[in-house]
Amino acid sequence: MNKFPHRSWIEVDFGRLEGNVRAIKATLPEGVKYISVVKADAYGHCMPQALMRFLRGGADIFAVANLYEASRVREIVSDKPVIVLSPILRQERPLVFEYGATAAVSSYNEAKAFSELARERGKVLGVHVKIDTGMGRVGIWHETANEVVRQIKKLENIKITGIFTHLSSADVDRDYTMRQVGIFKDIVEKNAEPGMLIHLHNSAALRYVPVEPPFNAVRMGLIQYGINPYDDGGGFESMNLKPVLSFKSRIIAIAESEGRRLACVCAGYGDGVPSGFTPEACVLVGGKRCPIVGNVSLDECTICIDAAPQARVGDEVVFIGEQQGAEISLSDYSRWTRRIPWETMVAIPRRVDRILK
Ligand SMILES: *Cc1c(COP(=O)(O)O)cnc(C)c1O
Repeated sequence: MNKFPHRSWIEVDFGRLEGNVRAIKATLPEGVKYISVVKADAYGHCMPQALMRFLRGGADIFAVANLYEASRVREIVSDKPVIVLSPILRQERPLVFEYGATAAVSSYNEAKAFSELARERGKVLGVHVKIDTGMGRVGIWHETANEVVRQIKKLENIKITGIFTHLSSADVDRDYTMRQVGIFKDIVEKNAEPGMLIHLHNSAALRYVPVEPPFNAVRMGLIQYGINPYDDGGGFESMNLKPVLSFKSRIIAIAESEGRRLACVCAGYGDGVPSGFTPEACVLVGGKRCPIVGNVSLDECTICIDAAPQARVGDEVVFIGEQQGAEISLSDYSRWTRRIPWETMVAIPRRVDRILK
């Protein structure tokens, strides 16, 4: 039992997490593999505990950003593939074998280096090849992809088990995204072989890119955590996604100033509350919306509690979540802090307690 009461904390509702995965899976055609993206500590939702729920919800494969994250997944899950999405450093390459991870390969030279390491170990290493269809960051540039993939296929100790691409702006630019989809399909048509995983969808792409052949897997991040990438609903309403993360704090002092009751809340930018709120920003106290006023400091921020006259020192303050029938969504909070929802989720530091439900 912790003798320190919670001052600022997040609550993670794992029942909802599992429900979201089930709801997303229910919309996918039979046989499509569900790749659960659990990078960055499961988007700040406590990866080790979240993994169990993703498994129960039906995740087939996990995706992480790097080998440290892959090693953490391996402590819990031994029998599912773990794809490392970001490029792997030369000195990290042996860890791919140690943790039985699936590397995302972005060049012939990288594939060749892996092939040599596999040969030394008497193995054939399965890799996914990443195609750059317009993100312009990592992957085999699409114009050279047919030739490079052909060369990789000739490497004796490498087996291509998947081909994928990442969409650069699925949530904001549909035309550009559809061009990426077309380019990718063309490459898949020329290079895919039976048994390969072909994947492109992130959360936002589910809105308008049909999950149909050649695609046989999807990579789900944001929506598993119950957040819709679209403010207008975007057709995701029917999934009935439930937000998983709440962010709460407490009033630690109350003062009067120029006829207003101001409360000091014990969460500042040291707790992930950013210093630049828009004027609409508010929190919930006693189920009432109370505006954030003045500057945010490292340990505290100030709210006006005129709307909640019953408020007392020690009362709960909700930045994200539900209280007495009222709600502030993670998307609202993100808009008020000029962040995207992905940033909000990963920006709450360890100083803030974790309550896992
Ligand atoms: C993070 C990531 C995803 C998940 O994206 P969401 O928008 O959160 O669903 C999918 N694919 C790749 C390559 C990623 O890096």
